[in-house]
This record gives sequence, structure tokens and C-alpha cells, in this order.
Amino acid sequence: MFEKILIANRGEIALRVIRAAREMGIKSVAVHSTADSDAMHVRMADESVCIGPASSTASYLNKAAIISACEITGAQAVHPGYGFLSENAAFAQALEDHGITFIGPSAEHIRIMGDKITAKETAKELGIPVVPGSDGGVPDFDTARGVAEGIGYPVIIKATAGGGGRGMKVARNAEELEVAFRTARSEAKAAFGNDEVYIEKYLQKPRHIEIQVFGDGKGRAVHLGERDCSLQRRHQKVFEEAPGPAITPKMRSEIGKICAEAVAKINYIGAGTIEFLYEDGKFYFIEMNTRLQVEHPVTEAIFGVDLVREQIRVAAGLPMSFTQEDLEINGHAIEVRINAEKLPNFAPCPGKVRVFHAPGGLGVRMDSALYGGYSIPPYYDSLIGKLIVHGRDRPEALARLKRALGELIIDGIDTSVPLFHMLLAEPDIQNGDYNIHWLEKWLAAQFAE
Ligand code: ADP
Repeated sequence: MFEKILIANRGEIALRVIRAAREMGIKSVAVHSTADSDAMHVRMADESVCIGPASSTASYLNKAAIISACEITGAQAVHPGYGFLSENAAFAQALEDHGITFIGPSAEHIRIMGDKITAKETAKELGIPVVPGSDGGVPDFDTARGVAEGIGYPVIIKATAGGGGRGMKVARNAEELEVAFRTARSEAKAAFGNDEVYIEKYLQKPRHIEIQVFGDGKGRAVHLGERDCSLQRRHQKVFEEAPGPAITPKMRSEIGKICAEAVAKINYIGAGTIEFLYEDGKFYFIEMNTRLQVEHPVTEAIFGVDLVREQIRVAAGLPMSFTQEDLEINGHAIEVRINAEKLPNFAPCPGKVRVFHAPGGLGVRMDSALYGGYSIPPYYDSLIGKLIVHGRDRPEALARLKRALGELIIDGIDTSVPLFHMLLAEPDIQNGDYNIHWLEKWLAAQFAE
């Protein structure tokens, strides 16, 4: 086992990894920018190294500085968290070249899944159901029209190099397609430096259902069920739950088995998430994330496992500590993402937190790097905490979420907490009756004037 690992991240996810390492008797090294000298991850780690100025390009994305920090401190492995360098194949490769272990999948797997067309082709080859659409990139409008007529309107045009929901355009007929095709290409070129686009059938009221998988890199893999992350604003998840309210045990084991077998076949190592749109009883692959997800705690809650501990174990060459048969769902879990932002426009509002009081009690987990007196710097993501609740069933989890939100105090800045109080009062949320468009529609209606 490693004696010391470095965490190439900040905020709550850095604490998450430090905590797992400490329970395993592993020393942790925090890295930080000059803007984060007072951050909680720096205080909580055993050692810390400043790797650059505030801008993340110069610090948390600075591969050379992070590798130097490993060499200075003798860290044998790097956990990338999520975001930043977590899905950067060149970083995984550079670490390997320096004899440092990347706590995550191989550079090759990151690369395959990072390109959306290759990812979709690979998924198809591995027996994973995909959204009907073009075979790879679509070079011109005539081809686009042929594809759209073949699969039927509406269709969605997506950038091969896309991410973060950018560069996507929906078309309901040939006229719309002409405009959509042109604008999607120019937006893709501007945003990603690559104007290749592909076409998919546009699903009208799907849920976002993702399957957690885990492999040992030696041909064994398991699935840990699904998370329903349909409540999204601008393609950003805000509320996630497990198990999914619309998913039956039979559907779970069928799609779960397909996913676990697929990752076993490619000797995938560590945690991964296979994302699907789900409509009328069918799953359609959209992408695979080759890292730990923000919403991993809901899965940990219902299965009673520590996914970060498991990532560290397999990275060190140890076997997984559970088999598929060991994994049984216990109850229901919900996570809400708390952002430093002001309603109704969700404008980021960093600043000084005067008082921070985390909720507690049975079935409540608060993952946050806040503390009273902390100044949230303006340079990074606005996620400042995740509140995760676990109950014996969905109604208990919802009641617990309401109770815990009531106990939470974050004084001095605006946060997204009021949004969750409002959502919990909605019958559709209480009934689990929502799809990927529900939140946007609801927000538009709430904040109409
Ligand atoms: P990105 O990598 O940019 O986040 P994804 O392919 O993961 O792009 O899609 C992001 C979101 O866009 C999905 O969660 C869904 O809300 C919507 N979306 C993507 N593909 C389709 C589709 N074929 N039909 C309907 N909505 C889609």
C-alpha cells in the first residue's frame, strides 16, 4: 500500500480523499494555489505545497508543478478528484512516466471515453445500448439530412469534442436542421477548436440515469446500481438520488450487468460512470466519465461502501474488497449541491462566510470545506458543499433532507439552499415524477417576472 498520496484538487473533494487516506493510514499531501493558503484542505492534509497563483491554469491544472510537488514530498500516487486533471489522459501518462501512480483508469481508457464518437463506438461494440444516430461525424448538410430522415425528427446535433452541454442544437425539421447544423459547427469550432459534429435522435422526456461501475484492472468488475440525476439546470446536476425512482430491480440488474461486463472486458480499473438517457423502459448511452463523480456519496450511502478507499486499493494493486453478490441496496439516499450563488439568476457570489453550522444526526452527511471566517475565493467552481441524506425509504430520505436543510447555517453569502426548500414543497419532487426538462421549466415558471 502507498505510504503517501497527493491530492490534485481543492474543496470538498480534496477533504473526501484526505479522509479516506487517513482511515487507511496513508499520509496526504495537499496542493494549493496562492488564493487557497487558508483553505480547509490545506489545513487538514498532513503536508501541503503551493503550486502556483490563483488562476487554475497556473495551479490546479499545472501538471509540471504537481509532479514536482510529488517529487519534493515523496508522494507515490495522485488522486485527481473530479474536474481539473481528473480526465486528462496526458496527465495520467505523465505521472506514469515519472513512476507515480495515477489513482484512476489508464490514460488509454481516459482518451477513448474523452472523444464522444469513439466513446459511443466503443460502447456499441461492448454491447451497451446507444442513442440511434449517425455513424460518427457528419461532414455536410446533405449527409445530415439523410441521417435525420433515417432516424426521424426531432434530432440533436452534438459536438464530437463537446462537454458541459455546449454546442448542442435541436432540430424538428429539415429547415431547422440546416440552421442548427451550421450554428452547431461554428459554435463547436469556437468552443473546442474542432467543428466536427454528429447527430442523435432527440429524446423528448428522458431521465438522466447513470450506472456506477468499478473495475480491478484485471478483468473483474461490478456495478453499484444507478443514480437519477435528471434535475439539471443548464445541464448541471443539482439534486441526485439513488436508487432511481423509475428504475425497477429487474431493469437495474439488466443494465448493471451489461455495464459491468463491458468494463470487465476492457480491464478497466477504478471507478467509472456510464451515463444514459432513459425513456419508456429503454436506456441510451450518452457518455462515460472515467473518474469519481460529485454525486458518488448517494451510492456509498445505499451500498455502505467507501468508493475512494476502493479506488486507492485497486490503484495499489489490491483486489476489490467486494463482489457483486456482496452489494445490496439498503434504503434511499439524496444529495443536493450547495452552491455559492444568488437566486433567481444563479449568479456566483463568493465572499466571507461568517457562520457555518453543518447539520447532523442520523443519516446526514455534509461534505464541505467551509468554516466560519473562511473567504470563498472567486476563481473556482461555485460548489461549496454537498448535503447527503440516507433513509430507510424515499419518503424518510425526503423528510430527513428537509430537516437537515433547516439545521444548516451558512451566514454571510447567498447560497442555493432556498431552492431546495422550494423544490421539496413540489408534489412532483415528492413523487419522484420528473425528467431532464422538469427543473428548467419549473424555474422559468417560478421566476417568470
Ligand atoms: P456534455 O458532455 O456536453 O455534458 P452529454 O452528451 O452528456 O453532453 O449531454 C448533456 C445533456 O444534454 C444530457 O444530460 C441531456 O440533458 C441532454 N442530451 C444529450 N443528448 C440528448 C439526446 N439525444 N436527446 C435529448 N437530450 C439529450
